[in-house]
Amino acid sequence: MRRPLIAGNWKMNLGLGDSVRLAEALRTGLGSVPDRDVAIFPGFVSVAAVARAVDGSPIKTGGQDCASELDGAFTGAVSATMLKSTSASMVILGHSERRHVFGEGDAVHAKKLQRALDAGLLPILCVGETQAERDSGATSAVVLRQLQAFLDAVPTLAFPKLTLAYEPVWAIGTGRTASVEQAAEVHALLRRAFRERAGAVAEDARILYGGSVKSSNIAALMAAPDIDGALVGGASLQADEFLRIIHFQRN
Ligand code: PEP
Repeated sequence: MRRPLIAGNWKMNLGLGDSVRLAEALRTGLGSVPDRDVAIFPGFVSVAAVARAVDGSPIKTGGQDCASELDGAFTGAVSATMLKSTSASMVILGHSERRHVFGEGDAVHAKKLQRALDAGLLPILCVGETQAERDSGATSAVVLRQLQAFLDAVPTLAFPKLTLAYEPVWAIGTGRTASVEQAAEVHALLRRAFRERAGAVAEDARILYGGSVKSSNIAALMAAPDIDGALVGGASLQADEFLRIIHFQRN
């Protein structure tokens, strides 16, 4: 049985004070969570302070992205080693906003993955199709291409460190959640593809669902066999709502 991971992506929201207050509220409200993992991804400027605020609790901290280069003249960029130096232990890579707002493709994300692993960060690798790609029947081809680009970038020895996230672009921040059937179909496809490359390692790999997850739909999603947690955007910004998601009851 894979242990669920509930991850909160705060995106470009909350300053330093509000980030630390939210982290402290989560720490206080979390209680004991023996059967699930929790991670939060504040903006870069708050990662170090948030990591300190949750130190010693079950909550892990990570960055929402990292640079594809090691260091040097890349004004505004944050490298994987810089992120690691803040006590972050995880990083989100390939998020649809990096792909579609910032125009970053598979090759850049593959390099970011190498940097992240070299720095000792555990990555969450996001894949997902746009509405137009779904409408044209390209969902499988798109998510498999994105997955292969990640897997081709790293040695098989690194496969146990990978967490995948299926995030249909049309469901992110829109209030439109994929149906359990739609999500389950893609999760099963990703698991099969990962199994072909990684063998038994794929059975232990967590595949998160992301896209308008709320406390009202988490339990139904988590009932699907290949959905192993959630990457939560908007609903992770309210402590009460995110805590309800974390503490979802199995159906
Ligand atoms: C996300 O940012 O990864 C996300 C899934 O956002 P939301 O939950 O707001 O759709």
